[in-house]
Amino acid sequence: MKPIDWKVIAQEGEARAGILRTRRSVIETPVFMPVGTQGTVKGVRYEWLESELDARIILGNTYHLFLRPGAEIIRELGGLHRFSTWNRSLLTDSGGFQVFSLTDLRKLTEEGVEFRSHIDGSKKFLSPEVSMEMQAALGAEIVMVFDECPPGDAGFDQTRKSLEMTARWAKRSKTRFDELQESGMDTGFLSEEGSAVTDSLSLPSEKLIHNLQPPATAEPSSDLSGQQALFGIIQGAGHLPLRRESLDLTTAIGFDGYAIGGLSVGEEKTVMYDVLEFLAPQMPSQAPRYLMGVGTPEDLIEAVSRGVDMFDCVMPTRNGRTGGAFTSRGKLNIRNAKFARDSEPLDAECPCSVCRRYSRAYLRHLYQTGEMLAAILISHHNLAFFLDLMRKVRDSIKLGRFSRFRKDFLEKMPENA
Ligand SMILES: [Zn+2]
Repeated sequence: MKPIDWKVIAQEGEARAGILRTRRSVIETPVFMPVGTQGTVKGVRYEWLESELDARIILGNTYHLFLRPGAEIIRELGGLHRFSTWNRSLLTDSGGFQVFSLTDLRKLTEEGVEFRSHIDGSKKFLSPEVSMEMQAALGAEIVMVFDECPPGDAGFDQTRKSLEMTARWAKRSKTRFDELQESGMDTGFLSEEGSAVTDSLSLPSEKLIHNLQPPATAEPSSDLSGQQALFGIIQGAGHLPLRRESLDLTTAIGFDGYAIGGLSVGEEKTVMYDVLEFLAPQMPSQAPRYLMGVGTPEDLIEAVSRGVDMFDCVMPTRNGRTGGAFTSRGKLNIRNAKFARDSEPLDAECPCSVCRRYSRAYLRHLYQTGEMLAAILISHHNLAFFLDLMRKVRDSIKLGRFSRFRKDFLEKMPENA
């Protein structure tokens, strides 16, 4: 039995609408996954994510949870689902990306990476095996292989060396992952009796939902194994032949899904779009394709049109904390003095509870006076905007109107907003 199931239900060009079933929830794709770095989506309670926002899957960061509170405490408390009370799907990254961002604090060998904690400077070690052990302790539905992320401007030879190591690490990740599954170390395992938490997936009541079909409620999935799924990661920076090489090495090992790593790390936008256009259609068509760490609303739409199914990005909450709001007319910053007397909502077209109630002037006032509610409300709106956008994308693919939707959406966006 498989740990996850993913099926295409509609396709327009390369853009695909699908249904992804995990042991804990039913997820319509293309999907945007809010990032819950420390086991929390910053400033947004799970109650909101479950009801109005109706997020079916969120991310957890292995690096951060590895440092605090650590694998031992999380395992002792029953895994990240039980510890945090989030009962829908989780995806955890491998920790690699964060470790490789610590350029001065790390030592890389074939075995793994030694680094100093950014919190207290203590020595730590991450490897494919340690990452898999940590991710089994977290118990997410989808686990990522431990990969090396070379800098975005790495040359051809350096990138090739790196992706070859990533492939060796992917194999080691899979070996350790399989052992952990077999020995029952996955805290999120669901036996048949305990499968799928259906009550947290009741029909969302808010207006945000304008799906053509009723939201996919979770049926206990007796055809799923109850285990974790493991995704491979394709590297190769902006070098197309290397992307192809990495794809071949990764698919030869065989994973439940495939991610595209090493994009949105400072390269030009056109590089990202070129890589996606080249790579996505060559990726296995029967498995979900996940573009890691991307991106802006425009990026999401451009990537969907090239065949990507899954996304995550900290932008909605990170920008929300600094007063940045995403809207159907581009970004706005609530700090701007021109909003001081503006009684309009952040986005008149947004059906979220923040836009239905609060004005830009009030939100600006909260921000200017340092009220924590400013960050909470703008983060909430931003997530609503991203999740609502993906709903519209899915609906338009199902109706065969995606290319029209894409054109209309991009036309409304001012350049360099
Ligand atoms: Zn809103």
